[in-house]
Amino acid sequence: MKQQAPILIAGGGIGGLSVAIALAQSGFYVHVLEQAKSFSEVGAGIQLGPNAARILDRWGVSRHFVSQSVTPENISLYDGLNGKSLAQVPLGDVARRRYDDAPYYVLHRADLQEALLKVAQNEPHITISTGFTALAYRETPYSVTLMGDDGRSVEGEALIGADGLWSAVRKQMHNVKPSPIGKTSWRTVIPSEYAPDFFKRQQTMLWMAPRSHLVHYPVIGGKAINVIAIVDDKEIGIGWNNAADKDEVIQGFRDWDTSPKDFITSLTGWHKWSLFALPPLEKWSKGRITLLGDAAHPPVPFLAQGGAMAIEDAAVLASELMIAQKHYPEAFHHYEAKRMPRVDKVMQQSHKMGRIYHMKTPARWARNAVLRRSQPENLLKRYDWLYGFEAVDDIV
Ligand SMILES: Cc1cc2nc3c(=O)[nH]c(=O)nc-3n(C[C@H](O)[C@H](O)[C@H](O)COP(=O)(O)OP(=O)(O)OC[C@H]3O[C@@H](n4cnc5c(N)ncnc54)[C@H](O)[C@@H]3O)c2cc1C
Repeated sequence: MKQQAPILIAGGGIGGLSVAIALAQSGFYVHVLEQAKSFSEVGAGIQLGPNAARILDRWGVSRHFVSQSVTPENISLYDGLNGKSLAQVPLGDVARRRYDDAPYYVLHRADLQEALLKVAQNEPHITISTGFTALAYRETPYSVTLMGDDGRSVEGEALIGADGLWSAVRKQMHNVKPSPIGKTSWRTVIPSEYAPDFFKRQQTMLWMAPRSHLVHYPVIGGKAINVIAIVDDKEIGIGWNNAADKDEVIQGFRDWDTSPKDFITSLTGWHKWSLFALPPLEKWSKGRITLLGDAAHPPVPFLAQGGAMAIEDAAVLASELMIAQKHYPEAFHHYEAKRMPRVDKVMQQSHKMGRIYHMKTPARWARNAVLRRSQPENLLKRYDWLYGFEAVDDIV
């Protein structure tokens, strides 16, 4: 018997693999087409809030990375200029109790990718092709053809563009491009043994200062620390893997308190990239084609939720396809109607957090005063809308 035509997924990142798993576990055939010749993640960490963790838990993904992840006890906030502690947002058991046992994970992206791949490769309904760079698509009333840049093409019943920030699928659908937001981000991952004790606690630590902030947290089961430094800057560079000059990084933190400054100065292996944003799209879908994850809504990373949004998108898309079955345009319409308000709110809050982190004096003093007198549980409670969110009632 002829196997049914698959749903095509352009891109095998967090979003592409997530939606492949969600769809396969709902009985759909899918074909993931990834441009990279083999799967390899950039050397960086990722935080996954309880809203994403509960979905990965139910798909059976988290059990493959849990031993390599860390559940931070809290997010500790500091003023980068004077090094003073401002507040702690409790995570760990407090967050677990608050969010129905869903944890807050921090982990290396390679461990997340490996776990997603393991589950995907065990699903007989998933085909994965690497070395296929999607260039354009063609839609008929009953199918979609995806063309690669090498002349190959594949046919499916529908197409999900999960091809990230510079999505080819989005380009054809809307012809819009992300623009730089005037911030440069540096990242490095270092072995914990080289860090002072203060910087290798089981916490996400966030240091804020005018024009710059620093975030670090343990990864690889605590054996390494992921460090991200973000500075207001006009430089434009595309991609995640531009090697960076250490002096350039230090320059962005020259006014900082000695303790975080010495820490930054001691680090090596920096890579940099510029941050980009895209105004909300009016539509994510057209006929049998839809967008997901960064292709639909590239995030600014100040809430650490871009990957989580791609995972939520995947769960909702699978659930809507289950309900509408082969009526792809209808399913895609319901999917974007459900997801757009949620994603817009996350994007707006993320931009707001970026402004708060980089507040200049005297606004910085007011921010610090508010944080100092806040009760830890109340700080967490402010994120109930984000972390307590159930993307779908009954995740497949
Ligand atoms: C500094 C920074 C920190 C972040 N921290 C966090 C965090 O802590 N938590 C969090 O949840 N999110 C975080 N994010 C956001 C998160 O990384 C992204 O939102 C997430 O990776 C999006 O996944 P995606 O699958 O949509 O896109 P991507 O991860 O970009 O994956 C797209 C995939 O498509 C492939 N591809 C691209 N073009 C083509 C093509 N033409 N044909 C075929 N394949 C193609 C790519 O090779 C890639 O594999 C952060 C982002 C930044 C910049």
